Amino acid sequence: MSKPRQNFDPTKPVNMIDLTCEQVDSIYQHMLTKGMPEIMWTVEIQKFTWEEIRDAHKNGKKLIAFGGPVPVTIMRAFDCVPFFLDTIPTRIASMEDLCGRFIDETEKYAPQSMCAIDKAQLGVMLKGELGVQVDAFVHATVPCDSARIAYPMMERLMDCPCFTFDCPFRHDDKGFKYVAEQIESFIPFMEELTGLKWDDERKAKFKEINEESNRAYELLIQLGDLRKKTPCVLPGRMLVLNAIIAPLAGTPEVTEMLQTQLDMGNMLADMGMTATRCPEERYRVCLMQNMLWSNTGIMDWMEKTYGAITVMDGFGYQDGVILSDLDNWETVKYEMAKMMLLVPMIHGATGPTEYWLKSIDKMYEEYSVNVSIFMGHVGCKHTWASGKIVTDYIQEKYGLPTLYVDVDAIDPRYKSNDELRAQIGEYMESVVGAHNFTKDA
Ligand code: SF4
Repeated sequence: MSKPRQNFDPTKPVNMIDLTCEQVDSIYQHMLTKGMPEIMWTVEIQKFTWEEIRDAHKNGKKLIAFGGPVPVTIMRAFDCVPFFLDTIPTRIASMEDLCGRFIDETEKYAPQSMCAIDKAQLGVMLKGELGVQVDAFVHATVPCDSARIAYPMMERLMDCPCFTFDCPFRHDDKGFKYVAEQIESFIPFMEELTGLKWDDERKAKFKEINEESNRAYELLIQLGDLRKKTPCVLPGRMLVLNAIIAPLAGTPEVTEMLQTQLDMGNMLADMGMTATRCPEERYRVCLMQNMLWSNTGIMDWMEKTYGAITVMDGFGYQDGVILSDLDNWETVKYEMAKMMLLVPMIHGATGPTEYWLKSIDKMYEEYSVNVSIFMGHVGCKHTWASGKIVTDYIQEKYGLPTLYVDVDAIDPRYKSNDELRAQIGEYMESVVGAHNFTKDA
C-alpha cells in the first residue's frame, strides 16, 4: 500500500480529520487510476472510517470519542459515531513530522515516558487541531497507567460529558459482572446525551447492530484460523488492518472488508498461492507484544528477505467472544463485558501475567510459531515488566529463544529502519538461521 503523503504545512494549524481524509482519499484515487481492484477494499475501509467521523454532525449523529474497550454497539444503537482515539496515532505513526508535532507538544506538559499512543492523541488536543467537535468522551481505566493518566487530561481538554468504565484487574466472573453493571449505567448516560429513549425501537436497532457485529467477529475468528495454515496465505500487515474492528463493529462496512479478506485468502489457499511477499514460507513469526505501527513495512521486509511471515501478534490476537443470546439483556451485558476485557491490548496486557501466558500458548501452539520476537513498544512498561517471565516460559515450553527489540510503536524517530533491520537481520542469520529452531527442536 502507498505510504501516506505528508501534505501539510508545519507552520500553519492542522485539521487532523480533514488532513487524514484528504490523505486517504488521495491514496484511494491513486489506486483507482492505477486499477488495483484486488486491494481497493483495504483503503475503502479506511476511507469509511475517517469520513464517518468527519461527517458525523453533517449526518445528524453525535460523535463520541473513546479510549480503551467500551461498548461501541450501544453507541451506534443511539445513532452516534464512535471515534476511537487510538486511530489517530496509529494512522500518523509512519509520518515523522506530523507524529512528532503532536508528541513534542505533549512532552511540554507530560513526562516523556508516557506512551506515544497517548502523547500523540493528547498533542492533537493540546494544539486544538483535532478538526472536529466531540459530543462526549467515553473511556476505560485500562489498558495501562499511561492511559489512566492521559484520559483524565483529555476529559478536561474535551470539556464534554464523560463516562468512565472502571475495569477490574481480574478477567473472571466477578470482573465480568462488575463491568456488566456499568454497562447498565451507561444506558441512562446515552439517553441523556442523545435525548433518545432505550425503548423497543432502540433495542431492536441494538439487536440488529449486534447481529452485524457478531458476523464481523465470526469472520475474524475464521481469518485467525486461516492464518494457522501452512503456508500462511495472508500477509502480516493484515493483522494491523483488522484492528479497525474496534470502532467499526456493527457496521456492514467492516463485515464486508473482513469477508473480502477471507474470500481472497481462501481462494489463494485453494490455488496453492499466498498474498505474502515470499515465494516460500520458511519461518512463522509471532510478534508477541505490540504492533509496530511506525514501521509496518518491517513485516513485508521480513517476508521478502527471510521468508518469515508474521502469523500472529499479541495485539492482533483475538479471543473471539460472540454474543450468544441477543434477546436476553442480562446475557448480552455479561458477554459484552467479557468482550471488553478480552480484546487486544487488554486481554494479555492487563491483569496478572498468567493471562499473557495463556494467549502465548494459544498463539505458539495453534499458529506453529518457530520465530519468537518481543517487538517491545517502549511505552508498554507493564509488559516489559513481565517480559522475562514470558520469554523464559517460551524458551522452556517451546524451545524458542526470543529476540528483544525495543521500538516505539508510534514515534518513528525512536529507531531508524536501518537499525531495526540490522537487529532483526542479525538475529535471523546468527540465531534462527544457524540453529534452525522449530517447535519440536
Ligand atoms: S500501547 Fe501499551 S502503553 Fe500504550 S496505551 Fe497501549 S497498553 Fe498502554
